[in-house]
Amino acid sequence: MKTLYGPVPSRRLGLSLGIDPFERKTCTHNCIYCQLGYAPSVASDISIDGVSPETVEEELADFFNSGGKADYITFSGSGEPTLWKHIGRLCKFIKENFSHIKLAVITNGTTLWRDDVRSAIGIADVVVPTISAASEKIYKILHRPNKNATFEQYIQGILKFAQNYSGEIWAEVMLVDGVNDGDDNVLELSNLLKDMPIKYIDLNLPVRPPAEKWVHPPQKAKVESICKKFGKKCRIVGKFTSHSHYVANIVDLSENILKILSRRPETAEGLSAALGKSSEEIALSLNALVDKKIIIPLENGYFKIRNE
Ligand code: SF4
Repeated sequence: MKTLYGPVPSRRLGLSLGIDPFERKTCTHNCIYCQLGYAPSVASDISIDGVSPETVEEELADFFNSGGKADYITFSGSGEPTLWKHIGRLCKFIKENFSHIKLAVITNGTTLWRDDVRSAIGIADVVVPTISAASEKIYKILHRPNKNATFEQYIQGILKFAQNYSGEIWAEVMLVDGVNDGDDNVLELSNLLKDMPIKYIDLNLPVRPPAEKWVHPPQKAKVESICKKFGKKCRIVGKFTSHSHYVANIVDLSENILKILSRRPETAEGLSAALGKSSEEIALSLNALVDKKIIIPLENGYFKIRNE
């Protein structure tokens, strides 16, 4: 499979079958916490061909016709999926052919000022826009957007989308220690979000190896206190790990997993037993490696190196 990945267990989306419409990172942002690393950004007013829509449709049909199961079909992957020229066609295809499965779009929100994008993803059940900055200054530090992007255009686009969308919006706030977890940004974000028709405010943390090594999540107590300030809609969806060792541990564990998978396919349970790590730690590393398209999950529960 080239464009589908998973299904992977997701804290919020249950069993999530991902669609990645791009071969390589294609995004309007270059977030300091991005697990895909740095790549030249693109403007938010363009649409990109990416993979052919027929390929994705065939892969989806093959997956479900051969007994595949998922709770959600999720647009995500290597960048900003709403830049994909065919996302509207695929949203319609999914709703017409797999109406029993929910459709989610994970977006950085930068294209929502566009009529065509709002209309294309308007039939999704859930849209998860990133809303982590409440000012131009923090927006630029955190997301390092394309030079044509402005905070005003980005936030107004999200507001416009929210006004007419009938599905659920789960705002994702990615918290980075010392960057956007200060009182001013939290208060301004809280004021911004409280007037929006949002179902959840999801606090996420940069637990996977980020683009910049100096990026860390805030301490647990700080995240919990921020969640209280956001009120009842707030959920902490990021995983807490040791502040100083979390990146090194994940990198080491991923390397050890790859060493085993380079010799043979293995299950999560087998990796957990072989490496003496908890199933949660193994799942975190496996998800990161699947997201990066380094490994692929097989239908029998095994994982193998991609292109092996
Ligand atoms: S984290 Fe997401 S929005 Fe940010 S640069 Fe990476 S792919 Fe783009």
